[in-house]
Amino acid sequence: MPPSDLPTSHPRYLSLLTRERIVAGVERGVTSLHGLIAHGRGEAFDYLLGERTHPFAARAISAAAAALRAARHPVISVNGNACALAAPDLVALAHATGAKLEVNLFHTSPARELAIRDMLLECGAPSVLLPSKTHAIAHIDHNRKWVHPEGIFLADVVCVPLEDGDRCQALVDNGKVVITIDLNPLSRTARSAHITIVDNLTRCLPLLVAAARQPDPTDPSPWNNLAALAEAEQAIRRPLPPNPIP
Ligand code: ATP
Repeated sequence: MPPSDLPTSHPRYLSLLTRERIVAGVERGVTSLHGLIAHGRGEAFDYLLGERTHPFAARAISAAAAALRAARHPVISVNGNACALAAPDLVALAHATGAKLEVNLFHTSPARELAIRDMLLECGAPSVLLPSKTHAIAHIDHNRKWVHPEGIFLADVVCVPLEDGDRCQALVDNGKVVITIDLNPLSRTARSAHITIVDNLTRCLPLLVAAARQPDPTDPSPWNNLAALAEAEQAIRRPLPPNPIP
């Protein structure tokens, strides 16, 4: 769905194309209006990171692929932004790792849950789990405690792209190994997950799928998440390049 009047040579083509996906997600009922704000925060961090996959992110991708492949019961938790931005890649990751896809929303809405499920099914997901009011995880008291009994409830490893800090911490406190994708190395999510890929979801998911498809994904253990986050923060704080305009 390329923006009709935007040339591919435009220096911000990819960023604008990504915005179009989020807007289309809102129009389709997949993404909430609040998701636009979360996306803007991500864009700002991506800008500061130079809009590229850094070596610390590449190493986190390897660690995440190894953890997902080694899991007994991996689950990918999908919200409205992740679905709008990368539904085909989320489905590909589920295929590559044997993970289940489960919808989980911050701003609960049964209609959006169904819209996300439908979009993932259209992209080839064999099935998509929805939260069930029969099973909840502990340590969290809002609506996002509800989970599917055969999905996150049972999971040993959960991949939660673009998560909020409370739920990420709750998943950790429930004994799950948590992988997240978050452009902000300072966020509570980034700091509470076991493996944080500080990169744009749209850039790193294809790399994560490719890594997970390797016959034997390498495990660069022991993974040191705080060290990787410190590298990401350094990358953001680096001196600015010289101004190209004289
Ligand atoms: P936390 O509760 O973890 O401190 P937050 O309140 O800052 O997080 P939210 O609004 O819950 O953040 O979620 C948005 C997060 O997702 C932000 O950290 C933002 O940088 C990140 N984000 C947004 N878009 C992307 C993207 N395309 N790829 C990776 N990360 C993204």
